[in-house]
Amino acid sequence: TAAGIENKVIAITGASSGIGEATALYLAAKGARLVLGARRKDRLTGVVDRITAAGGTAIGVVVDVTRRADLKHLTDTAIDRFGRLDVLVSNAGTMAVSPFDDLRQDDWDAMVSTHITGLLNGIAAALPVFRGQRSGQFVNVGSTAAYVVKSPQAVYAATKTAVKVITEGLRQESGPDLRVTLISPGFTNTEGVGKGGSPEAAAALTRRRDEIAMPPAAVASAIGYAIEQPAGVDVGEIVVRPTMQD
Ligand code: NDP
Repeated sequence: TAAGIENKVIAITGASSGIGEATALYLAAKGARLVLGARRKDRLTGVVDRITAAGGTAIGVVVDVTRRADLKHLTDTAIDRFGRLDVLVSNAGTMAVSPFDDLRQDDWDAMVSTHITGLLNGIAAALPVFRGQRSGQFVNVGSTAAYVVKSPQAVYAATKTAVKVITEGLRQESGPDLRVTLISPGFTNTEGVGKGGSPEAAAALTRRRDEIAMPPAAVASAIGYAIEQPAGVDVGEIVVRPTMQD
């Protein structure tokens, strides 16, 4: 695969809002051909329509990353429509934080299944495609939460630590043809911050976001940097956080 972004076929999970949406808009403007996945069809369609109206190329696929078949459908759509898949950006996530005493087990399950099972489902769907092509790139969205545990974010931090560990293991097994990148954003201004979790924890996160967060475009361009390097150059990790973050 040539260096650059133009014409690359890139699938992005969690593309209906926030970092995924910003990444889709950024990569589309650089000439990538996109297959965008998320659960909210209306929001996904809105992103696809904006890209198309601006002269870009994107298809939307309703995907729940916790379902194996949905990820397979996402990668199959790339092959059917564009004949290949160059990059899978595994970005879908949920930041539903709460103290352990609240016993919000559904939120714990959602973070485990979205960040860990969802990532593994993406690897299972894309790895055989990449091996067959003898080229491909995984871009996995972790978090600076993998580096510092801040109460009450332990379950979120644990699942993002798993993203980091899985990414490094995958990199070690990837061989000369594949590239594996971890993107570790700090506080980013998206609707996902403060969505779900306990009301108190959500309110605290939202306040903090409004004080210090960086725009999602900052993460989108970091992802673009990792993708546009020449085939033999593997950007292992990019940590990008607002200067205000400790
Ligand atoms: P958003 O809530 O705006 O975006 C999350 C995206 O993931 C949405 O498109 C959502 O779409 C999708 N999603 C959630 N669950 C699933 C699922 N089961 N299947 C498919 N899609 C799903 O938040 P962000 O943009 O902030 O989050 C994007 C990623 O960035 C997450 O992994 C998050 O942990 C990470 N991150 C965010 C930081 C921040 O400060 N904002 C900091 C560090 C990392 P839908 O609901 O339509 O399915």
